[in-house]
Amino acid sequence: MAAHPDYYKILGVSKGASDDDIKKAYRKLARKYHPDLNPGDKQAEAKFKELSAANDVLSDPEKRKNYDQFGDPAGAPQMGHPGFEGAGGQSFDFGDLGEAFGGFFQNFGSGRRARRAGPKPGEDLQHTVRISFQDAFKGTKLPLQVSRTETCRACQGSGEAPGASKTTCPTCKGRGYFEQGGILRGRVECDDCGGAGQKAAPCPECQGRGRNPKRETVTVAIPPGVEDGAKLRVAGKGEAGRRGGGAGDLYLQVQVEHDARFERKGPNLYVKLPISFTEAALGAKVDIPTPEGTSTIKIPPGTQSASKLRLKGQGMPVPKSDQRGDLFAEIQVVTPKIQDERSKELLRELGDLNDHGIRH
Ligand SMILES: [Zn+2]
Ligand SMILES: [Zn+2]
Repeated sequence: MAAHPDYYKILGVSKGASDDDIKKAYRKLARKYHPDLNPGDKQAEAKFKELSAANDVLSDPEKRKNYDQFGDPAGAPQMGHPGFEGAGGQSFDFGDLGEAFGGFFQNFGSGRRARRAGPKPGEDLQHTVRISFQDAFKGTKLPLQVSRTETCRACQGSGEAPGASKTTCPTCKGRGYFEQGGILRGRVECDDCGGAGQKAAPCPECQGRGRNPKRETVTVAIPPGVEDGAKLRVAGKGEAGRRGGGAGDLYLQVQVEHDARFERKGPNLYVKLPISFTEAALGAKVDIPTPEGTSTIKIPPGTQSASKLRLKGQGMPVPKSDQRGDLFAEIQVVTPKIQDERSKELLRELGDLNDHGIRH
């Protein structure tokens, strides 16, 4: 294992320095020794490279941990890719998680060396939104707080300090990949240099990541008629791509709250409608709930329990069309519990008059 310099000393911070302290120290020194500001000064250039290497390790939680523990940002021997070990136990934001796993499952084929770092598309993001039944009926626009990344403006996503020349990547020592042992045997692209084996000093703005975290309000249009569990895609609102790769997409899983009055099957709605024995026999006009309010439905004389009456086009909108589903009233005839003698008498009389032999 090659000896690594004292990165803490280079940045002038203590071993227990916070991420913020490291960032500040690096920025301050990087500005001082940046080659653009010290043209022709070989010492400043060397110093700048040292600073970049130190920052590269100490600003990356995984490399820093390895460096602290083993004296090597790549970790202990045979521990494989530095971005892999311990990724499960660390809390990363989306950007870092993407960096940690980015390229991990890339197959390098039959030992071919990748010498050019290609563009990498950004990762997709997932969000869940919960909306009311009414919003699902009418459609809605939701302002959504999304933690994503955007392409670094200072380096245009290359991750390289503007104007800096390329040197051997310190993480992979110029190989561009790591040999991975264990179950996931094979070659793993060096995420530090994107497999190129060479890298310039990292951009001080994004610490070489090529993208910066951003909290953004994304307004999402939920179309009328959206169903519970629907997945909507918002193009280009995932993580920023790297080295010129396009941004990922934002996927929304929509949860629609249940409205106790309706049962929904696709665009059709079902309402349970209790009616009296008399209304069923004689027919009636009854109000039923609809997504907009109420509608009057005509119960034909002689309506049976469990029959369904349809109100055409009064269900939920069919997404991406101007159609609507239907609203069905499921009739429940409520049999009266007769207590008084007068009613019993009338019903007996009614029964004698209307003996249709229903069981024959
Ligand atoms: Zn940058
Ligand atoms: Zn590398």
